[in-house]
Amino acid sequence: MLLELLNLGEMSVYRALAKLLAEPTFSQQIHFSFQLDFWLRPSTPALPVDVRIPFHSQQAVKVFLESNNIEYSILIEDLQVVLDEEKQDMALSQQRERSSSTFNYGTYHSLAAIYEELDNLAHEYSSIVSKLTIGESYEKRPLYVLKFSTGGTNRPAIWIDAGIHSREWVTQASAMWIARKIASDYGSDPSITSLLNKMDIFLLAVTNPDGYEFTHTKNRMWRKTRSKNQGSLCIGVDPNRNWDAGFGGPGASSNPCSDSYRGPSANSEVEVRSVVDFIKNHGNVVAFLTLHSYSQLLMYPYGYKCTKPADYAELDSVGKAAANSIRSLYGTTFKVGSICSTIYQASGGSIDWSYDYGIKYSFAFELRDTGNYGFLLPASQIIPTAEETWLGLKTIMEHVRDNPY
Ligand SMILES: [Zn+2]
Repeated sequence: MLLELLNLGEMSVYRALAKLLAEPTFSQQIHFSFQLDFWLRPSTPALPVDVRIPFHSQQAVKVFLESNNIEYSILIEDLQVVLDEEKQDMALSQQRERSSSTFNYGTYHSLAAIYEELDNLAHEYSSIVSKLTIGESYEKRPLYVLKFSTGGTNRPAIWIDAGIHSREWVTQASAMWIARKIASDYGSDPSITSLLNKMDIFLLAVTNPDGYEFTHTKNRMWRKTRSKNQGSLCIGVDPNRNWDAGFGGPGASSNPCSDSYRGPSANSEVEVRSVVDFIKNHGNVVAFLTLHSYSQLLMYPYGYKCTKPADYAELDSVGKAAANSIRSLYGTTFKVGSICSTIYQASGGSIDWSYDYGIKYSFAFELRDTGNYGFLLPASQIIPTAEETWLGLKTIMEHVRDNPY
Protein backbone atom coordinates (compact mmCIF):
# COMPACT_ATOMS: atom_id res chain seq x y z
CA MET A 1 0.00 0.00 0.00
CA LEU A 2 1.17 3.46 -0.85
CA LEU A 3 0.35 4.70 2.60
CA GLU A 4 2.73 2.49 4.55
CA LEU A 5 5.54 2.52 2.05
CA LEU A 6 5.70 6.16 1.43
CA ASN A 7 4.11 7.68 4.39
CA LEU A 8 1.98 9.75 2.08
CA GLY A 9 -0.50 9.95 4.96
CA GLU A 10 -1.54 13.48 5.48
CA MET A 11 -0.17 15.57 2.73
CA SER A 12 -1.78 18.58 1.30
CA VAL A 13 -1.32 20.23 -2.00
CA TYR A 14 -1.10 23.95 -1.62
CA ARG A 15 -1.57 26.46 -4.30
CA ALA A 16 0.63 29.42 -3.75
CA LEU A 17 1.11 32.39 -5.99
CA ALA A 18 3.83 32.57 -8.58
CA LYS A 19 5.73 35.07 -6.47
CA LEU A 20 6.46 32.31 -4.01
CA LEU A 21 9.65 31.27 -5.66
CA ALA A 22 10.52 34.76 -6.67
CA GLU A 23 11.19 35.27 -2.98
CA PRO A 24 14.96 35.30 -2.64
CA THR A 25 14.61 33.63 0.74
CA PHE A 26 12.86 30.71 -0.88
CA SER A 27 16.11 29.30 -2.08
CA GLN A 28 16.87 25.88 -3.41
CA GLN A 29 18.06 24.98 0.05
CA ILE A 30 14.65 25.63 1.54
CA HIS A 31 13.00 23.78 -1.32
CA PHE A 32 15.04 20.71 -0.48
CA SER A 33 14.81 20.93 3.29
CA PHE A 34 11.02 21.17 3.01
CA GLN A 35 11.07 18.30 0.48
CA LEU A 36 8.62 20.06 -1.77
CA ASP A 37 7.22 18.31 -4.81
CA PHE A 38 6.34 20.84 -7.44
CA TRP A 39 3.36 19.83 -9.54
CA LEU A 40 3.43 23.16 -11.33
CA ARG A 41 6.67 25.05 -11.05
CA PRO A 42 6.68 28.80 -10.83
CA SER A 43 6.26 30.13 -14.35
CA THR A 44 4.38 33.18 -15.56
CA PRO A 45 2.25 35.26 -13.20
CA ALA A 46 -0.78 34.00 -15.15
CA LEU A 47 -0.23 30.42 -14.03
CA PRO A 48 -0.40 29.19 -10.44
CA VAL A 49 2.26 27.33 -8.53
CA ASP A 50 1.10 23.96 -7.22
CA VAL A 51 3.22 22.16 -4.72
CA ARG A 52 2.81 19.00 -2.72
CA ILE A 53 4.14 19.30 0.79
CA PRO A 54 5.06 16.32 2.95
CA PHE A 55 3.26 16.19 6.26
CA HIS A 56 6.39 16.88 8.30
CA SER A 57 7.03 20.14 6.43
CA GLN A 58 3.52 21.53 6.49
CA GLN A 59 3.86 23.63 9.62
CA ALA A 60 7.19 25.08 8.53
CA VAL A 61 5.90 25.91 5.06
CA LYS A 62 2.77 27.55 6.46
CA VAL A 63 4.87 29.67 8.79
CA PHE A 64 7.14 30.62 5.93
CA LEU A 65 4.25 31.57 3.63
CA GLU A 66 2.41 33.52 6.30
CA SER A 67 5.44 35.35 7.58
CA ASN A 68 6.18 36.43 4.01
CA ASN A 69 2.58 37.43 3.33
CA ILE A 70 2.28 34.95 0.49
CA GLU A 71 -1.31 34.00 -0.26
CA TYR A 72 -2.11 30.37 -0.75
CA SER A 73 -5.03 28.03 -0.87
CA ILE A 74 -5.30 24.32 -0.26
CA LEU A 75 -6.15 22.36 -3.39
CA ILE A 76 -6.23 18.87 -1.98
CA GLU A 77 -6.39 18.68 1.79
CA ASP A 78 -5.59 15.00 2.10
CA LEU A 79 -3.94 13.45 -0.92
CA GLN A 80 -4.32 9.98 0.52
CA VAL A 81 -8.10 10.15 0.17
CA VAL A 82 -7.72 10.81 -3.57
CA LEU A 83 -5.08 8.09 -3.91
CA ASP A 84 -7.32 5.60 -2.12
CA GLU A 85 -10.22 6.45 -4.41
CA GLU A 86 -8.03 5.95 -7.46
CA LYS A 87 -6.86 2.55 -6.17
CA GLN A 88 -10.38 1.41 -5.35
CA ASP A 89 -11.56 2.48 -8.75
CA MET A 90 -8.81 0.48 -10.44
CA ALA A 91 -9.46 -2.63 -8.38
CA LEU A 92 -13.17 -2.51 -9.15
CA SER A 93 -12.71 -2.13 -12.88
CA GLN A 94 -10.02 -4.84 -12.90
CA GLN A 95 -12.65 -7.22 -11.54
CA ARG A 96 -15.08 -6.21 -14.24
CA GLU A 97 -12.40 -6.54 -16.91
CA ARG A 98 -11.55 -10.03 -15.75
CA SER A 99 -15.14 -11.17 -16.06
CA SER A 100 -15.70 -9.51 -19.45
CA SER A 101 -12.16 -10.03 -20.86
CA THR A 102 -12.16 -6.56 -22.35
CA PHE A 103 -9.90 -3.59 -21.77
CA ASN A 104 -11.84 -0.74 -20.20
CA TYR A 105 -10.56 2.49 -21.77
CA GLY A 106 -12.15 4.52 -19.00
CA THR A 107 -9.88 3.32 -16.25
CA TYR A 108 -6.19 3.37 -15.36
CA HIS A 109 -4.14 0.22 -15.94
CA SER A 110 -0.94 -1.48 -14.93
CA LEU A 111 1.87 -1.62 -17.46
CA ALA A 112 1.19 -5.33 -18.01
CA ALA A 113 -2.45 -4.66 -18.86
CA ILE A 114 -1.49 -1.87 -21.28
CA TYR A 115 1.09 -4.07 -22.98
CA GLU A 116 -1.48 -6.85 -23.33
CA GLU A 117 -3.92 -4.45 -24.98
CA LEU A 118 -1.23 -3.38 -27.47
CA ASP A 119 -1.14 -7.00 -28.62
CA ASN A 120 -4.93 -7.12 -28.78
CA LEU A 121 -4.97 -4.04 -30.99
CA ALA A 122 -2.29 -5.40 -33.30
CA HIS A 123 -4.23 -8.66 -33.51
CA GLU A 124 -7.69 -7.15 -33.95
CA TYR A 125 -6.60 -4.64 -36.61
CA SER A 126 -3.78 -6.66 -38.10
CA SER A 127 -4.24 -5.14 -41.56
CA ILE A 128 -3.16 -1.69 -40.39
CA VAL A 129 -1.65 -2.05 -36.88
CA SER A 130 1.63 -3.69 -35.96
CA LYS A 131 3.72 -3.63 -32.81
CA LEU A 132 7.40 -2.71 -32.95
CA THR A 133 9.99 -2.80 -30.21
CA ILE A 134 12.22 0.26 -30.45
CA GLY A 135 14.45 -0.56 -27.48
CA GLU A 136 14.28 -1.32 -23.82
CA SER A 137 14.17 0.78 -20.69
CA TYR A 138 16.89 1.06 -18.05
CA GLU A 139 15.22 -1.79 -16.14
CA LYS A 140 14.94 -3.81 -19.37
CA ARG A 141 11.26 -3.32 -20.11
CA PRO A 142 10.44 -3.25 -23.82
CA LEU A 143 9.54 0.06 -25.45
CA TYR A 144 6.61 -0.81 -27.69
CA VAL A 145 5.46 1.38 -30.54
CA LEU A 146 2.25 0.81 -32.47
CA LYS A 147 2.64 1.41 -36.17
CA PHE A 148 -0.46 2.38 -38.12
CA SER A 149 0.13 1.91 -41.80
CA THR A 150 -1.77 0.98 -44.92
CA GLY A 151 1.37 0.16 -46.89
CA GLY A 152 3.99 1.96 -48.94
CA THR A 153 7.64 2.19 -48.07
CA ASN A 154 8.84 4.66 -45.51
CA ARG A 155 5.91 7.01 -45.94
CA PRO A 156 6.01 10.38 -44.20
CA ALA A 157 5.19 9.67 -40.58
CA ILE A 158 3.61 11.23 -37.53
CA TRP A 159 5.17 10.44 -34.17
CA ILE A 160 3.01 10.51 -31.02
CA ASP A 161 4.29 9.69 -27.54
CA ALA A 162 2.85 9.77 -24.04
CA GLY A 163 3.94 9.15 -20.49
CA ILE A 164 7.53 10.34 -20.67
CA HIS A 165 6.71 11.69 -17.19
CA SER A 166 5.34 8.61 -15.51
CA ARG A 167 2.92 10.20 -13.03
CA GLU A 168 0.96 11.90 -15.82
CA TRP A 169 -1.40 8.93 -16.01
CA VAL A 170 -4.06 10.51 -18.17
CA THR A 171 -1.53 10.69 -21.02
CA GLN A 172 -0.80 6.95 -21.26
CA ALA A 173 -4.52 6.25 -20.86
CA SER A 174 -5.46 8.77 -23.56
CA ALA A 175 -2.81 7.38 -25.89
CA MET A 176 -4.40 3.93 -25.58
CA TRP A 177 -7.85 5.29 -26.37
CA ILE A 178 -6.39 7.19 -29.32
CA ALA A 179 -4.69 4.03 -30.60
CA ARG A 180 -8.00 2.21 -30.76
CA LYS A 181 -9.66 5.27 -32.27
CA ILE A 182 -7.14 5.47 -35.11
CA ALA A 183 -7.46 1.76 -35.84
CA SER A 184 -11.24 1.61 -35.65
CA ASP A 185 -11.91 4.84 -37.55
CA TYR A 186 -9.83 3.89 -40.55
CA GLY A 187 -12.24 3.26 -43.39
CA SER A 188 -15.12 5.14 -41.79
CA ASP A 189 -13.73 8.56 -40.81
CA PRO A 190 -12.68 10.31 -44.06
CA SER A 191 -10.05 12.40 -42.29
CA ILE A 192 -8.11 9.55 -40.71
CA THR A 193 -8.66 7.38 -43.77
CA SER A 194 -7.11 9.88 -46.18
CA LEU A 195 -4.30 10.50 -43.72
CA LEU A 196 -3.43 6.82 -43.40
CA ASN A 197 -3.61 6.40 -47.15
CA LYS A 198 -0.70 8.84 -47.41
CA MET A 199 1.15 8.61 -44.14
CA ASP A 200 2.03 6.34 -41.22
CA ILE A 201 1.47 7.00 -37.54
CA PHE A 202 3.80 5.73 -34.80
CA LEU A 203 2.49 5.78 -31.25
CA LEU A 204 4.51 5.16 -28.09
CA ALA A 205 1.95 5.00 -25.27
CA VAL A 206 4.36 4.43 -22.38
CA THR A 207 7.64 6.23 -23.03
CA ASN A 208 8.90 5.72 -19.48
CA PRO A 209 7.77 2.20 -18.50
CA ASP A 210 10.08 1.91 -15.46
CA GLY A 211 8.66 5.09 -14.01
CA TYR A 212 5.14 3.99 -14.85
CA GLU A 213 5.58 0.66 -13.09
CA PHE A 214 7.01 2.53 -10.10
CA THR A 215 3.97 4.83 -9.93
CA HIS A 216 1.81 1.71 -9.61
CA THR A 217 3.91 -0.17 -7.10
CA LYS A 218 5.82 2.31 -4.97
CA ASN A 219 5.27 6.00 -5.49
CA ARG A 220 2.31 7.38 -7.44
CA MET A 221 4.10 10.73 -7.73
CA TRP A 222 7.21 9.47 -9.55
CA ARG A 223 8.11 11.58 -12.60
CA LYS A 224 11.63 10.59 -13.71
CA THR A 225 13.30 7.53 -15.15
CA ARG A 226 14.64 4.89 -12.71
CA SER A 227 18.30 4.97 -13.68
CA LYS A 228 21.02 5.04 -11.03
CA ASN A 229 23.04 8.23 -10.74
CA GLN A 230 26.75 7.92 -10.18
CA GLY A 231 27.83 9.45 -6.89
CA SER A 232 24.31 10.00 -5.64
CA LEU A 233 21.73 7.97 -3.79
CA CYS A 234 18.98 9.76 -5.67
CA ILE A 235 17.44 7.85 -8.54
CA GLY A 236 16.37 8.93 -11.99
CA VAL A 237 16.64 11.63 -14.61
CA ASP A 238 13.92 13.93 -15.89
CA PRO A 239 13.64 12.45 -19.38
CA ASN A 240 12.21 15.67 -20.72
CA ARG A 241 15.37 17.59 -19.80
CA ASN A 242 17.63 14.96 -21.33
CA TRP A 243 17.25 15.63 -25.09
CA ASP A 244 20.03 17.16 -27.10
CA ALA A 245 18.50 20.62 -27.34
CA GLY A 246 20.15 23.33 -25.29
CA PHE A 247 21.14 20.51 -22.93
CA GLY A 248 22.32 21.79 -19.58
CA GLY A 249 20.84 25.24 -20.07
CA PRO A 250 18.28 27.07 -17.91
CA GLY A 251 15.22 25.29 -16.57
CA ALA A 252 16.90 21.98 -15.84
CA SER A 253 18.70 20.92 -12.71
CA SER A 254 22.21 19.54 -12.35
CA ASN A 255 21.25 17.99 -9.02
CA PRO A 256 20.43 14.26 -9.27
CA CYS A 257 17.96 14.63 -6.41
CA SER A 258 15.90 17.18 -8.28
CA ASP A 259 12.76 16.17 -10.12
CA SER A 260 14.04 18.11 -13.13
CA TYR A 261 17.54 16.58 -13.13
CA ARG A 262 18.84 16.72 -16.70
CA GLY A 263 21.12 13.68 -16.40
CA PRO A 264 24.90 13.43 -16.88
CA SER A 265 24.73 14.06 -20.64
CA ALA A 266 22.24 14.49 -23.45
CA ASN A 267 20.55 11.18 -24.38
CA SER A 268 21.99 9.49 -21.29
CA GLU A 269 18.57 7.93 -20.73
CA VAL A 270 18.00 4.89 -22.87
CA GLU A 271 14.30 5.74 -23.19
CA VAL A 272 15.21 9.08 -24.83
CA ARG A 273 18.03 7.58 -26.89
CA SER A 274 15.71 4.87 -28.23
CA VAL A 275 13.23 7.41 -29.56
CA VAL A 276 16.00 9.56 -31.04
CA ASP A 277 17.55 6.55 -32.78
CA PHE A 278 14.18 5.38 -34.09
CA ILE A 279 13.36 8.79 -35.54
CA LYS A 280 16.81 9.25 -37.05
CA ASN A 281 16.74 5.77 -38.59
CA HIS A 282 13.28 6.32 -39.97
CA GLY A 283 14.32 9.54 -41.63
CA ASN A 284 10.87 10.65 -42.74
CA VAL A 285 9.07 11.75 -39.57
CA VAL A 286 7.29 15.03 -40.32
CA ALA A 287 5.41 15.64 -37.07
CA PHE A 288 6.41 15.05 -33.45
CA LEU A 289 3.57 15.22 -30.94
CA THR A 290 4.03 14.54 -27.24
CA LEU A 291 1.45 14.24 -24.47
CA HIS A 292 1.97 15.55 -20.94
CA SER A 293 -0.32 16.64 -18.16
CA TYR A 294 -1.50 18.86 -16.59
CA SER A 295 -2.32 22.56 -17.29
CA GLN A 296 -4.27 22.52 -20.58
CA LEU A 297 -1.59 23.99 -22.82
CA LEU A 298 -0.60 23.39 -26.39
CA MET A 299 3.00 24.40 -26.93
CA TYR A 300 5.53 24.60 -29.73
CA PRO A 301 9.28 25.40 -29.62
CA TYR A 302 11.28 26.83 -28.12
CA GLY A 303 11.79 25.97 -24.50
CA TYR A 304 15.56 26.17 -24.22
CA LYS A 305 15.56 29.69 -25.61
CA CYS A 306 12.99 32.41 -25.77
CA THR A 307 13.37 33.38 -29.42
CA LYS A 308 10.60 32.50 -31.84
CA PRO A 309 11.07 29.50 -34.10
CA ALA A 310 11.37 30.15 -37.84
CA ASP A 311 7.90 28.67 -38.39
CA TYR A 312 6.34 30.62 -35.58
CA ALA A 313 3.39 32.02 -37.53
CA GLU A 314 2.36 28.66 -38.94
CA LEU A 315 2.86 26.74 -35.69
CA ASP A 316 0.91 29.35 -33.77
CA SER A 317 -2.02 29.26 -36.17
CA VAL A 318 -2.10 25.44 -36.33
CA GLY A 319 -1.88 25.36 -32.54
CA LYS A 320 -4.77 27.77 -32.19
CA ALA A 321 -6.87 25.78 -34.66
CA ALA A 322 -6.16 22.63 -32.65
CA ALA A 323 -7.14 24.39 -29.43
CA ASN A 324 -10.43 25.43 -31.07
CA SER A 325 -11.10 21.81 -32.02
CA ILE A 326 -10.41 20.72 -28.46
CA ARG A 327 -12.75 23.36 -27.06
CA SER A 328 -15.54 22.45 -29.48
CA LEU A 329 -16.31 19.20 -27.69
CA TYR A 330 -16.60 19.95 -23.96
CA GLY A 331 -15.52 23.58 -23.76
CA THR A 332 -12.07 22.73 -22.38
CA THR A 333 -9.77 25.69 -23.01
CA PHE A 334 -6.13 25.27 -23.99
CA LYS A 335 -3.63 28.08 -23.98
CA VAL A 336 -1.36 28.12 -27.05
CA GLY A 337 2.20 29.41 -27.32
CA SER A 338 5.87 28.57 -27.24
CA ILE A 339 7.15 26.69 -24.19
CA CYS A 340 9.16 29.69 -23.12
CA SER A 341 6.29 32.15 -23.41
CA THR A 342 3.67 29.80 -21.97
CA ILE A 343 5.46 28.32 -18.99
CA TYR A 344 9.15 29.00 -18.60
CA GLN A 345 12.50 28.49 -20.17
CA ALA A 346 13.28 24.76 -19.99
CA SER A 347 16.18 23.07 -21.72
CA GLY A 348 16.61 19.55 -23.04
CA GLY A 349 12.96 19.06 -24.04
CA SER A 350 11.80 16.64 -26.72
CA ILE A 351 9.99 19.01 -29.08
CA ASP A 352 12.96 21.38 -29.19
CA TRP A 353 15.14 18.48 -30.24
CA SER A 354 12.66 17.29 -32.89
CA TYR A 355 12.18 20.80 -34.24
CA ASP A 356 15.89 21.54 -34.47
CA TYR A 357 16.33 18.12 -36.06
CA GLY A 358 14.07 19.33 -38.86
CA ILE A 359 10.62 18.11 -37.81
CA LYS A 360 8.64 21.29 -38.36
CA TYR A 361 5.38 20.18 -36.76
CA SER A 362 6.56 19.68 -33.18
CA PHE A 363 3.98 20.18 -30.45
CA ALA A 364 3.66 19.36 -26.76
CA PHE A 365 0.24 18.99 -25.17
CA GLU A 366 -0.44 19.44 -21.47
CA LEU A 367 -3.80 17.70 -20.97
CA ARG A 368 -6.42 18.16 -18.23
CA ASP A 369 -6.89 19.56 -15.73
CA THR A 370 -5.82 22.95 -14.40
CA GLY A 371 -5.14 21.73 -10.88
CA ASN A 372 -8.32 20.50 -9.19
CA TYR A 373 -6.86 17.02 -9.31
CA GLY A 374 -3.58 17.60 -11.13
CA PHE A 375 -1.85 14.29 -11.78
CA LEU A 376 -4.64 12.46 -9.96
CA LEU A 377 -7.27 13.11 -12.59
CA PRO A 378 -10.25 10.83 -11.86
CA ALA A 379 -10.67 7.92 -14.24
CA SER A 380 -14.10 9.25 -15.18
CA GLN A 381 -12.27 12.01 -17.09
CA ILE A 382 -10.02 9.73 -19.16
CA ILE A 383 -12.36 9.26 -22.10
CA PRO A 384 -13.52 12.91 -22.33
CA THR A 385 -9.85 13.96 -22.14
CA ALA A 386 -8.87 11.48 -24.85
CA GLU A 387 -11.80 12.50 -27.05
CA GLU A 388 -10.98 16.20 -26.98
CA THR A 389 -7.25 15.56 -27.33
CA TRP A 390 -7.95 13.43 -30.37
CA LEU A 391 -9.76 16.35 -32.02
CA GLY A 392 -6.74 18.57 -31.40
CA LEU A 393 -4.34 15.95 -32.71
CA LYS A 394 -6.51 15.43 -35.77
CA THR A 395 -6.50 19.12 -36.62
CA ILE A 396 -2.70 19.12 -36.49
CA MET A 397 -2.43 15.89 -38.46
CA GLU A 398 -4.77 17.14 -41.18
CA HIS A 399 -2.58 20.20 -41.55
CA VAL A 400 0.51 18.00 -41.72
CA ARG A 401 -1.17 15.80 -44.34
CA ASP A 402 -2.11 18.82 -46.48
CA ASN A 403 1.18 20.70 -46.13
CA PRO A 404 4.07 18.46 -47.07
CA TYR A 405 7.48 20.07 -46.77
ZN1 LIG B 1 5.25 16.13 -18.23
